Amino acid sequence: MRAEAIIHLDRFKENINSVKTRIGKNRQICVPVKADAYGHGAVQIAKASLEIEESCCFGVAAASEGLALRKEGIKAPILLFSQPNPDEIEEIIKTELTPFVSDADFASILNEYAEKAKKEIPVHLKIDTGMGRIGCNVKEAQELARHIGKLPHLNLTGTATHLAVSDSKNRRDIEYTKKQISRFKKAVKMIREDGINPGVVHAANSGAVILHPAAWFDMVRPGILLYGYKAVQEYEAPLDQLKKLSRFKALTVEPVMELRSSVVLIKKIKKGESVSYGRTWTAEKDTLIGVISVGYADGLPRLASGKWQVLIGGKFFPVVGRISMDQFCVNLGKTSEIKRWDEAVIFGSPDHDADALAKITGTIPYEITCNVSKRVPRVYRH
Ligand SMILES: *Cc1c(COP(=O)(O)O)cnc(C)c1O
Repeated sequence: MRAEAIIHLDRFKENINSVKTRIGKNRQICVPVKADAYGHGAVQIAKASLEIEESCCFGVAAASEGLALRKEGIKAPILLFSQPNPDEIEEIIKTELTPFVSDADFASILNEYAEKAKKEIPVHLKIDTGMGRIGCNVKEAQELARHIGKLPHLNLTGTATHLAVSDSKNRRDIEYTKKQISRFKKAVKMIREDGINPGVVHAANSGAVILHPAAWFDMVRPGILLYGYKAVQEYEAPLDQLKKLSRFKALTVEPVMELRSSVVLIKKIKKGESVSYGRTWTAEKDTLIGVISVGYADGLPRLASGKWQVLIGGKFFPVVGRISMDQFCVNLGKTSEIKRWDEAVIFGSPDHDADALAKITGTIPYEITCNVSKRVPRVYRH
């Protein structure tokens, strides 16, 4: 095999179970499957989610992503997390997606299209409590809920907000998240005081599932956590605060994606000879070089050149020289038990994962798994 991304659905299901155990039976899980489930394959992830948790719903960023799920027979609610363009509206209505609504204008436009299609469509009211992106202001939430209530073709089935720093243990960030949660509660209360049912109330992304039980409400929306990464920022909080946060048992998750390839060629090079573009690495002594058929076009960041190591036969070997578009090299040493065609694991075990790769390349695990390209077939393990 040239390169493949093993998707461990068994681990994914275990991760769902871990989240379920943490949040309790009475809360729902919305599985974010946007960007092809962070590169894991939206259809397979959605099906696996429903196998383990019937009440799951899903989150996408584009109407086309919702359509792809419907075509595969997914009937669960699909939330459209991003503000759609007008040219996506017909598809939203046809495929019965649940868009987030941030403003009265867009609510009215949706209502007109739904009227034309003779349909009623579910919507979730989105409130900006401090993310500073989509959503109405806290003060406008009650008025927007009334407006939606008056539109005959819209059904308010949920109310949501999104948290900006819920994954941080920094004290100021913890305070900021608490403020977002209290603003959200206030807005939901005002909607209820108007006699309007806010529907499913939800706010928690992965960070909040780990650190902020007060944000769990009726449903949580953890993405990266279900794909096996905690992605919580460095510890900076004083000890007493940390103790409070760990009232809940440690939550364990395992990386779902494993990127594999193989050593397609082994060759001797002599002391003083260089490897790959730019001649950034030169052998200090005679050695064996293994060529592995994965490159930045497959999603291995070029910035990992000279910094990463890969697992071959249970041992780590350093990446040497520049990672090129389709291949890279490792230093196997002077003598090696590694044989041609041996399997090489690029990332995907708990201590050799996309988070570690992200750290050395200045990004986040989200970007690593999303960037594993179409050229790499996904192979599903059940
Ligand atoms: C992507 C997304 C999530 C999931 O975020 P994670 O950090 O992966 O948990 C939750 N809610 C919304 C609105 C999103 O767009």
